[in-house]
Amino acid sequence: MKFSEMTYERPNMGDISSQMKERIAALSRAETADEQLEQIAAINNLRNHFMSMAELASIRNSIDTRDEFYKAEKEYFDTVSPEMEAIETEFREALLASPFRAELEKHLGAQLFKLAEVQKRSFGNAIVADMQETNRLVTEYNALVASAKIPFEGKNLTLSQIGRYLNAPDRHVRRSANEARYAFFAKHEEDFDRLYDEMVKLRTRMARQLGYDNYVQMGYDRMNRTDYGPAETRRFRDQIKRHIVPLAESLRERQRQRLGLDKLQYYDLALHFPTGNPEPKGDPSWIVENGRRMYRELSPETDAFFKFMVDNELLDLQSRDGKRVGGYCTIIPSAKAPFIFANFNGTAHDVTVLTHEAGHAFQAFESRNLPCPEYYFPTSEAAEIHSMSMEFFTWDWMNLFFEEDTEKFKFYHLSTSVLMIPYFAVVDEFQHFVYENPTAPPQERKAYWRELERTYFPSRTYEENEYLERGGYWHQQLHIFNYPFYYIDYGLAQVCALQFWTKIQSNKEQAWKDYLHLCQLGGSRSFVELVQAANLRSPFDENCIESMIGDIANWLDSVDDNAL
Ligand SMILES: [Zn+2]
Repeated sequence: MKFSEMTYERPNMGDISSQMKERIAALSRAETADEQLEQIAAINNLRNHFMSMAELASIRNSIDTRDEFYKAEKEYFDTVSPEMEAIETEFREALLASPFRAELEKHLGAQLFKLAEVQKRSFGNAIVADMQETNRLVTEYNALVASAKIPFEGKNLTLSQIGRYLNAPDRHVRRSANEARYAFFAKHEEDFDRLYDEMVKLRTRMARQLGYDNYVQMGYDRMNRTDYGPAETRRFRDQIKRHIVPLAESLRERQRQRLGLDKLQYYDLALHFPTGNPEPKGDPSWIVENGRRMYRELSPETDAFFKFMVDNELLDLQSRDGKRVGGYCTIIPSAKAPFIFANFNGTAHDVTVLTHEAGHAFQAFESRNLPCPEYYFPTSEAAEIHSMSMEFFTWDWMNLFFEEDTEKFKFYHLSTSVLMIPYFAVVDEFQHFVYENPTAPPQERKAYWRELERTYFPSRTYEENEYLERGGYWHQQLHIFNYPFYYIDYGLAQVCALQFWTKIQSNKEQAWKDYLHLCQLGGSRSFVELVQAANLRSPFDENCIESMIGDIANWLDSVDDNAL
């Protein structure tokens, strides 16, 4: 069904609520597993309907924010969704209380129950008031960041508008753009420190109320991590220190040489080539045309997927007046349809939408028939494997977009994929320190952050910026404020995606088979189980990074980057 033909009607919350409650009561009363399965299917239908209407309202609001009808509908869902969440909590409790769990797991998989367990453990009525207070602080943080008006070259720019100057080939321009940007954060340094301090204290109080020692394990539970804990992520970070940091340092040294500088200053880090970072050679509609060809040629599965997306109007890519900024990928369950929203601007970002976001959408498309809404997307570290790996599976078509700069793009893509990993570890290790030491004052937090930067980016220098030297860099990292412990996910996924990269070099066909299988599993298994099913090494295995980093370093070494 075409997106424009999908009918929206506001769900009657009273009806949905009473039907859900009746079904949950019947589920609890049921005397056989079959009866329970029947009730679960009916409950999931109701949830799918509610979710589909919520998604339609939200998507249509984002593609035209001036449309008063969908604006009001979006607001309606914002007000009724806590009620829906409360009912879903009752549903999960009924599931966990089932005497037929073993049989239910045969049909629905065990992951549904594991998720229900961590969700139950990390939520309770006792913390609702503190959660609301935390949400208020999150809103305040977002509003402060959105309020940024950065004076630059006679204009007042938002943080996203100043973005394009941060990697300008002209050193004077990128230096003053970076200085202007960080002047905003430095000016609000105390506000950021205060907001975060209040959040940390609230989260710690909630954790203790639920019986945790501190917020660390509660954070893991709220990220739905069912098969690893802080000890595993620590071992993963140790591998990064040993095997990624040295490679990343050598890449920074090559970058310094390419740029012909005595020393890479913090404002040089985003510029990788003296001629500028790689850009596609055509406008947004040309990029979409090439994307069609790419997915047609990549595999029969991507061909079917991309045709489905185009034929059913499930790609809204071009920038238009009234459209919300940013991009996302979601799914409309009743239509079994993924949806990609973006704002193309003719830069390399557009190609990333077509590879990264389409990777998410392809996974959702492949797992659209799984039995519960919980499985449409996996937990976040697993979800990024699909998107980051699709960026590599599409390498053979990058010449369509970058033409004579294809080699430059590939070098840029693979080297930045490596360079990002130590940063994921810094953000993660920082948060462990913060929540293990919730009374540490803001100065101590910032000093600790700066210390971590010295460990993971030994050559980085902030000698020209006092605020960054004091350890303020993380104030801009919204995950730290809004989604605690959500960040190592990108590192875990990147290490899996890089394993796919090495497999693609040696056996493309087998790599694709494994990838497709992974996509078809959706969120029906936990992270480590999914990784195993895809024939990848778990990032928590002692030798995981060591076993693949050599191939990547060799490829990067083989490129004459000074010629790019
Ligand atoms: Zn993603």
